[in-house]
Order: sequence, then structure tokens, then C-alpha cells
Amino acid sequence: MPHNTKYVFVTGGVTSSLGKGIISASLAKLLQSRGYSVTIQKLDPYINVDPGTLNPYEHGECYVTEDGAETDLDLGHYERFINLPTTQANNVTTGRIYQSVINKERKGEYLGKTVQVIPHITDEIKGRIKLLGTKHKYDVVITEIGGTVGDIESLPYIESVRQLRWELGPTNSVFIHLTLVPYLAASGELKTKPTQHSVKVLLENGIQPDVLVLRTEKTLNEELRRKVALFCNVDSESVVESIDVKTIYEVPLLMLKEKLDLTVLKKLNLPVGNEPDLDSWNQFIAKLKNPKKTIKIGLVGKYVELPDAYKSIVESIIHAGASNECKVDLITIHSETICDSTLEEKLGDLKGIIVAPGFGHRGVEGKINAVKYAREKGIPFLGICLGMQCAVIEFARNVLGLSDANSTEMVRSTQNPVIDLMESQKGIIDKGGTMRLGAYLCVVKKGSKAAQAYHKPEIQERHRHRYEFNNAFLDQFEKAGMVATGTNPETGLVEIMEIAKHPWFVGVQFHPEYKSSVVNPHPLFVNFVKAALDFNK
Ligand code: GLN
Repeated sequence: MPHNTKYVFVTGGVTSSLGKGIISASLAKLLQSRGYSVTIQKLDPYINVDPGTLNPYEHGECYVTEDGAETDLDLGHYERFINLPTTQANNVTTGRIYQSVINKERKGEYLGKTVQVIPHITDEIKGRIKLLGTKHKYDVVITEIGGTVGDIESLPYIESVRQLRWELGPTNSVFIHLTLVPYLAASGELKTKPTQHSVKVLLENGIQPDVLVLRTEKTLNEELRRKVALFCNVDSESVVESIDVKTIYEVPLLMLKEKLDLTVLKKLNLPVGNEPDLDSWNQFIAKLKNPKKTIKIGLVGKYVELPDAYKSIVESIIHAGASNECKVDLITIHSETICDSTLEEKLGDLKGIIVAPGFGHRGVEGKINAVKYAREKGIPFLGICLGMQCAVIEFARNVLGLSDANSTEMVRSTQNPVIDLMESQKGIIDKGGTMRLGAYLCVVKKGSKAAQAYHKPEIQERHRHRYEFNNAFLDQFEKAGMVATGTNPETGLVEIMEIAKHPWFVGVQFHPEYKSSVVNPHPLFVNFVKAALDFNK
């Protein structure tokens, strides 16, 4: 019998940033906890082929999957909630859709037909949505459509979903629309009109939503729910309240209370499954809400004006804090503001310092200053990707005495290129999708801080970089006390650098933050926070 995958489509109306990603991830979590296999996909209406070429100020962090896709940060939420890896297929952009349609046209695959948005672009979109069901055989595929309904650029997606619903037939898909119910303080009222208008836009596009999730700052009463149900043609149980909460991790519990999972299962004609098993989730929330201590950790980066630029790091620290039963006050510090005269003021009261990933020379010297401070004062330090590279440069300059040491990314002509372009990167001109991306193996040295954290000799971590530690300098580093404690067994690339004599000083070429989830807080972050707590004593 063919596998009958069911599809859930999630759109947003009224305004952006209502939390479609979190609602999708929460629903997935609940369905998963009832025993269903679920995945979540994000359709992004922009023309970039992937967000890899976007400045973090545009859409926040670029999230990287195991198989090396550079994706929207919502995929990070999906993985953190359902603790399962996503893949290339989980993020689709308009750029990718057009690229593949145009490639097919060039190959003559359309047999002389005029290539058009309908049916060619929409067919390509539908194919990408169905692929997760047919190839990976999930019970439920949740597809989140980026942007806000009514946007010109999301029209082909809305049309594709309209067609798919028709093709799939009743009970095989559910359409969830997320809107905002604003509270007008002057009149003391919650307003439903924006929701009505937003549903009208969907109706104009041929879609009747099945479930409405209403984002609100105040509780919705029965009368308001009935009114929305009546005006938007949905049953009352399909009007779901999504009230503001302190942490996104409470949203699955709210959705459980609102029976979003049961409503969706009923509409998909699926059995309710097991009683949701949310024990570990609840334990996490309990620890998160009842910390025994508070600790201040600094995140040094150059995109700090936009908190989403370091989303996965911030979430990893939240997971690690909860795991250590402590609240981490994560202070972001702009690396361009860190110089000799500001060191004490900016970093003086921190119990741990993270130096963030990044590209280009802006802010690098400030990061190097922060590393020096952490190294000299014995403050627990975690350097991630560029952060690790800065740690290497700092050590070369201030311990090995190679005063002009640098990365060739910053100064091409440096006499001491302690960080240099990877061999495999030489000759690459295209920027998009050409970095060392995705999961690679790393062998961890016994007795190191990394080994203490991971408790295993081999790990897989995700990468996104072009430059690497220059092995020509390795001897010099190791003799002076900075040791490669993680290396790629196939290429010899250095993956982890540590200062053995320091209480906790770990630089990683990879991005551990992409693999931390609620039920599996990342061991490096957990031990880093633990070290910061010890430093605090
Ligand atoms: N710019 C550095 C490189 O490409 C570091 C990248 C990063 O921090 N993700 O190697």
C-alpha cells in the first residue's frame, strides 16, 4: 500500500514575525510526542537561491543542516524542537525553484512549451512539498510558507498549496493560518478585523483556512472566538489562542492546552495516537523557570544589533543554562567597541566569553582583544569558527611572538598566515554554496576538555567556512601550550584548539550551536557554562 503522507500548510497574515516557525515546530513536537513521524519544511519567497549569501542583518542567522544546506533560521527551531535533523529538502526558496525550472528549460525538458508561473513554477513547488512525503515517507509534513499572505512574492506558493489541497483530496491536508489579534489599550478591546481581512485575502486566492491560530497578548474569550469562527467560516474548536509567553519553549504546552494537535489530527482523519510524552520537555521547562543561580556570559560579535544573527548560539546557551540549573544572562558585546581602554568595562564582570563566528575583517581586532583577556584572566572561553580562528591569531601574536600573525582572509600578505584558505577552496570564485558545509567527522583527543564534554572519541559537527588552521604552525603552537584536540581523520584539518593550562579554553572550527536541542543540549555548551559557574565560585 502506498504511504499516505498528510500535509499541513502554515501561513501568516496581518504582520510578519508572529511566530509561524514556532507554531509549526510546536505542532510537530506534539504530533511527534503522539507517535507520528513528522518533518517541517520552510518555503521562502525571496530570490536568493539560499540564505548563505545574505548578510545576517537581513534575515538573521544562516542555519546549516547535516547535509550542508545553508538555510533559514526557522530550521534551527524545527531541529531544536523535534530533535531530528533537517535536510536540503526542508528549505526551498523562490531562487531555487526558478533555478531548477530554468535549468530544465535549457535542457529542453518542457518540449517547446511556453514556460510559465502556472503550471511550471507551481508544479516545481508542489514537487518540492510532496518530495518529503514520497521520498522520506513521513506521516505528516508541515510546510511553513514564509512572508505574509497578500505579498506579491508569495502568490505562487499560495496557488501551489491551493492546487495541492485539491489534488490530495479531503482529509489529506490541513491549512493553518496564523494572525494577530491586536489589543487597543484606548478602548480596552481585542480586535478581530485584521484577522477577518487576512482570511478574506486567502479566500480571494481560493483557500479556506481550516484552523486559525490567533496571536494575542490577552486571553481570548468565548465570544471573541465565536465571532472569529463565524466570520471566517471555521468551527469554534479551530480557533486557537496563541498568547504571548516568556519563552518559546512553552508554546508546545500552550498548543497542547488549546488542543491544536487533536484538531489537526481530526481534520486529517488520523487517530489521536499515544498520550503525548512530554516528560523531558517539561523537565527542561521546570529547570528553565526555576534556576538556582544566575551567571553573566558575554557573546562578542559584530552583528549584535540583531539578536537573530546569533539565534542558535543564544538558544544553545539557554539549553546549557537549563541543564546546569542556572540562568545565563547572555550579554552581547559589539566587537568593534573592544579595545585596550574598554576591556575592563566591557568584559570585566563576565564569567565566560564566547567569540562568535563571522566573515570579513570588520570587528576582528576587537574579537582578538576579547580572546586575550579571556586567556590571560583564565575566563572560560568558547571560540566558534571565526572565534576559534581569532584565538589562534591571538596566541600566535602574544604567546609565540609572531606579531603580524593573521588570517589571510583579513591580511592576504601576512608573513605568518596561521589561518589560511583551505586547499579545496583555492580557485573557487562563486560565493553561493561553495564553503566547506555540513557535517564532518572529528577525532577527539583523550583527556582534552572536548573529550570530557563529548564522552566519545569521534564526533560529527557542522561546518561553514573557507579558512582553516594552517598546519605548518601546529608544532610551534603545541609546544607553547595550544593543542589541537580535534582533527578531521581524513584531511588532517584542525577542528578543535585548546589551551591545556587554562581552566576552560576551547576553540572550535565547526558550529556546535547547530546541534543543540531541548532534549539534547550540546555538551560543549553545557561544559562551557559549567566552567563559567566554577569560575564564578
Ligand atoms: N570567515 C571565516 C572562514 O570562512 C569563518 C567563518 C565562520 O565563522 N563561519 O573561514
